[in-house]
Amino acid sequence: MHDDVIIIGAGIGGLSIGALLTKEGHSVRILEKSSHLGGRTACMKFKNHILDNGFHIMPFYKKSSIFSIFKLLGIESRLKLAKVDKIMFHSETGFHKYPKGIRDLLSLSMIPIKSRIALLRVLLPMAFTSIKKTEEWDDLSLTEITKKLDPETNAFFDAVCMLAFADTPVHISLGEFARTIIRANPFKGGTSEFAYPDEGGYDSISKILFQYIQENNGQVELNSSVKKIVIENSAVKGIISGDGTFISSECVVVSFPAYMAINQLFEKNVISQKFVNKINQLNKRTAVIEVHFALKSQLDSRQVVFPVGTHYTTKGIFFISNITPSVSPLGEHLIIAGTPVDPMIIGNAEKTQKIVNEMKNEINQIYPDFNSSLLWERPMAWDLVESVVKEPGLVWKSKMPHQIPGIKGLFFVGDSTVSYGIGTDSAAHSSILCMPKIQSYLRT
Ligand SMILES: Cc1cc2nc3c(=O)[nH]c(=O)nc-3n(C[C@H](O)[C@H](O)[C@H](O)COP(=O)(O)OP(=O)(O)OC[C@H]3O[C@@H](n4cnc5c(N)ncnc54)[C@H](O)[C@@H]3O)c2cc1C
Repeated sequence: MHDDVIIIGAGIGGLSIGALLTKEGHSVRILEKSSHLGGRTACMKFKNHILDNGFHIMPFYKKSSIFSIFKLLGIESRLKLAKVDKIMFHSETGFHKYPKGIRDLLSLSMIPIKSRIALLRVLLPMAFTSIKKTEEWDDLSLTEITKKLDPETNAFFDAVCMLAFADTPVHISLGEFARTIIRANPFKGGTSEFAYPDEGGYDSISKILFQYIQENNGQVELNSSVKKIVIENSAVKGIISGDGTFISSECVVVSFPAYMAINQLFEKNVISQKFVNKINQLNKRTAVIEVHFALKSQLDSRQVVFPVGTHYTTKGIFFISNITPSVSPLGEHLIIAGTPVDPMIIGNAEKTQKIVNEMKNEINQIYPDFNSSLLWERPMAWDLVESVVKEPGLVWKSKMPHQIPGIKGLFFVGDSTVSYGIGTDSAAHSSILCMPKIQSYLRT
């Protein structure tokens, strides 16, 4: 095969599969429709601060799929990671430690001692079960276990789900939750710690992958959208770019949400309607409103604070310049506060502003110096956080497969495709899982 492997999209999914392929000597061409790398993790500069595209942290720290890919490529030393482990809850009774292990769970001051024992009874067996066993729980909701627990313990689960999934327990599959607990278990080789690029900006991960791809003779072309994938006789023949040019290739990898791609990139009847309908079911978006605030004083030395309790609109306060000062100019501090919202609210300026005002009032109640320290604020709303909410029945192996049965040379990666993990970790995991399939095809 002489043509390049064409990869559509330069997010974490597209860049990680691109880097893995160039490592094996394959010729790769990545086409990205926007003007920047990183997809949903792209960053911007604003008033000398580095602003992430909403709050982003890397789950599972050096045990994450992203870090595994960096290790596979031999470039882990290029990614300096700041640890995110100064995490606290805030309830009406004050600050409470975020539990990192069993001992912390036993001293979890946020909930009564009786509830801590009940919580341990639920979480401990889960943490020591096998990934295979968790697949039996994929169709059940996390509320199967939380409904038996008291309101304080439910508030704890709400905060954990906000951190891990940007969503509420009712939308989370018990199987996916259990896999997260297993991967957080140090006795199973996991970690509950999170990470963030030390140099500031989550897109640093994409920039390093991009550099690696270029060093290995791969190409990444920005402002290059793909309009159609050409399929003839059940095999990929190439793509048609945004300007109508045909580019020949017998291997194309799609790395943006599959339920969008299969509706946009193919002529009618190339993919069976039954298959399209099944994949469209994965379109269960989470939406968030998040506000960046720049401050002239440091309100807290912690990195993340979760307000807990149903009366709070704000579900997370992330002190980004406490994670790494590189994101802000000297003497200024960057925080981001967020809350999950109904996707219908996105685009409604009035409702968004109301939510932002509620969040500001709440932060000022927790930190009375907040209003007087505020230099500027920048609210944002997103209707697509992860491609697939960790919805019961739509996780892990029920996601978009990496290949469509019967079509040769076409592959899918990214967070909507078969993989487990959270957000960027699942996008990277999909590339690890898809890589042998692409290699096997390229060999034939
Ligand atoms: C506000 C917010 C907060 C988040 N927080 C976290 C977090 O804390 N931790 C975490 O791990 N994850 C988080 N996520 C999720 C994470 O960003 C995504 O899961 C991950 O970035 C998905 O990567 P991907 O490569 O699968 O897709 P994407 O990042 O969406 O990349 C797909 C790329 O394809 C390009 N593209 C699309 N169509 C075409 C076309 N026709 N031609 C060419 N290019 C095309 C797009 O422009 C994009 O660059 C968050 C997301 C948001 C929005």
